[in-house]
Amino acid sequence: MSNTRVAKRLPRDPGPPAWRSIIPEQPRYPKLENKIITDWLIVGGGFAGLSAARRLCQITNTDKIALIEASEIAAGPAGRNSGFMIDLPHELGSGSYQDKIEVDQKHIKLNRQALQFAKDAAEEYSMPTEAVEPSGRINGAVNINGEKHNKEYAQHLDQLGEQYKNLSSFEMEKITGSTFYKSGLFLPGCLMLQPALYISKLANGISQSNGNKFSIYEHSPAIEIKKNNDSWEIKTPTGSVIAKKIIMAVNGHAESFGFFEKRLMHVFTYASMTKKLTKDQLTKLGGEKKWGVTPSNPMGSTVRKITGINGDRIVIRNRWTFDPSMEVSEQRVSKFGNDQDKSFNDRFPMLLDVEMEYRWAGRLCLSLNSVPAFGEVDKNIFSACCQNGIGTAKGTLAGIGAVDLATNTDSAIVNDMKSYDAPKKLPPKPISYLGANAIIKWRELKAGKEL
Ligand SMILES: Cc1cc2nc3c(=O)[nH]c(=O)nc-3n(C[C@H](O)[C@H](O)[C@H](O)COP(=O)(O)OP(=O)(O)OC[C@H]3O[C@@H](n4cnc5c(N)ncnc54)[C@H](O)[C@@H]3O)c2cc1C
Repeated sequence: MSNTRVAKRLPRDPGPPAWRSIIPEQPRYPKLENKIITDWLIVGGGFAGLSAARRLCQITNTDKIALIEASEIAAGPAGRNSGFMIDLPHELGSGSYQDKIEVDQKHIKLNRQALQFAKDAAEEYSMPTEAVEPSGRINGAVNINGEKHNKEYAQHLDQLGEQYKNLSSFEMEKITGSTFYKSGLFLPGCLMLQPALYISKLANGISQSNGNKFSIYEHSPAIEIKKNNDSWEIKTPTGSVIAKKIIMAVNGHAESFGFFEKRLMHVFTYASMTKKLTKDQLTKLGGEKKWGVTPSNPMGSTVRKITGINGDRIVIRNRWTFDPSMEVSEQRVSKFGNDQDKSFNDRFPMLLDVEMEYRWAGRLCLSLNSVPAFGEVDKNIFSACCQNGIGTAKGTLAGIGAVDLATNTDSAIVNDMKSYDAPKKLPPKPISYLGANAIIKWRELKAGKEL
C-alpha cells in the first residue's frame, strides 16, 4: 500500500438543503488556507464527525482538534435527512429466543446512549426545542401487510418489555388529518430532530465552548492523505493539516480514499418539503401540530408535519436508488418529485393546492451484511463510517466509538462495534448495479400503497 491516498471523488449533494433553508442563517466557518498542526483531525462534519468532536473535547484536556468539511455544516446528508433519531432497531429478532432478546436489548441501550447524547447537547448548547424533540414516531400501516408487520413488531416489543400504543384509523386521522392510514403503532422513544438546526447548533455549541482547542473549516475537502513518519499530512485544495490521529467521518466517502473498497453500497433517497401551509390549508388538514410517520414497509413513504421557526410544513420522503458513482442528477431529483407529489396527494386530498417549495436527494451508505465500517483502518486513522441508513443514532455512536477506540477508553460502544464482521464484499460492479436497482424496484412495487 502506497503512503498516499488521493480522494477519487468529493461529495455532491443534489438539490437544496431544505431544512437549513428554513432556519435563520447559522454561523459559517473559514476555509482552510494555510498549514496547521493539530493532535486530531476529524474529516467530515455530519453526525459522526461532530459527535466525535464533542466526545474528544470532553475527554481530552489540552489536545488541539480540527474538523474539515468538504461542503458546509448541515448542507450534506446530516442536514437533509428526515430527522427520525430512532431508538428501536427497524427489524427485531423474531421468536422468543433469549439470546435474540438480549441482542435487541443491547442495541436499544446503545441507541438510547446516542439519543441521550443529542438531548444533553441540546441542553448544554441551549438549542431551540424544535432541534431535538422527544415526541415519538408512528409506524403507519396502510394495508393488511402493514398491519401484520406492526402486529408482529408489537409482539416483539412485548417480549422486550418496551412501550408502544396501537392507534386505530380514527386515531391516526385525529393525529395526521389523513384518512389514508388503516392503523398505526406509536413508538414513544424516538427523538424527532430538525436535522439542520441540530447539526448547526451542535457545531456552533462545540466551537463556542472550546475556544482555541477546536476549529472547524468549511469548503475544505480532504483531497489527499499522506503518511509522514509518525504523523499524517492531509491536503485540502487551499491548505494542509499535520495531524497525529485522524477520525474518518465521511460515511460512504471512506471508499473514495480506498478504505473498504468494493464493500460499501452507496444509495440515494429523495424528499420534498411543502411551502409554508396557510391558515386555510391548516384548517382543511386538521390533525395535530406536529407528528412523524415512518412506513411499516421500509420502501414506503416517510411523512412529517412540522411546525417551528418557519411555519407549518409537510415533508415527504420516498424512492431509493443504488448509485456506486455517489452522484445523482438534478433531473432525477425532479423526476422522483412526481412520486412524492403522488404520495402527498394520496394522503392529503384536501391539500391539492399545496405546492412543494424544496426537492432534494441525499446519500446513504449501507453494507451487504448491515455492519458498520468501523475501526483503525491504518495506523492512527479511525473509521466511523457506514451507518446503514439510520445514521442519526448510528453515526452519533460511531463518532463517539471511534474516539473511545483511538483514546483506549473502555466503552460499550467499542465492544459492540468490534464484535461485527467486516462489511461483506459486493459482487462485481455491473452485477451489483443492475441487481441492486432491480431489487429496489421490485420491493418498491411490492410496497404498493405504502409508497
Ligand atoms: C432524505 C434522507 C432521509 C433520511 N432520513 C433519516 C432518518 O430519518 N433517520 C436516520 O437515522 N437517518 C436518516 N437518513 C440517513 C442519515 O442522514 C445518514 O445516515 C447520516 O447523515 C450519516 O451520518 P454521517 O455523519 O456518518 O455522514 P454524513 O452525514 O454524510 O456526513 C459526512 C460528511 O463528510 C463530508 N465529506 C465527505 N467527503 C469529504 C472529504 N473528502 N473531506 C471533507 N469532508 C468530506 C460530507 O460533506 C458530509 O458532510 C436519511 C438520509 C436522507 C438522504
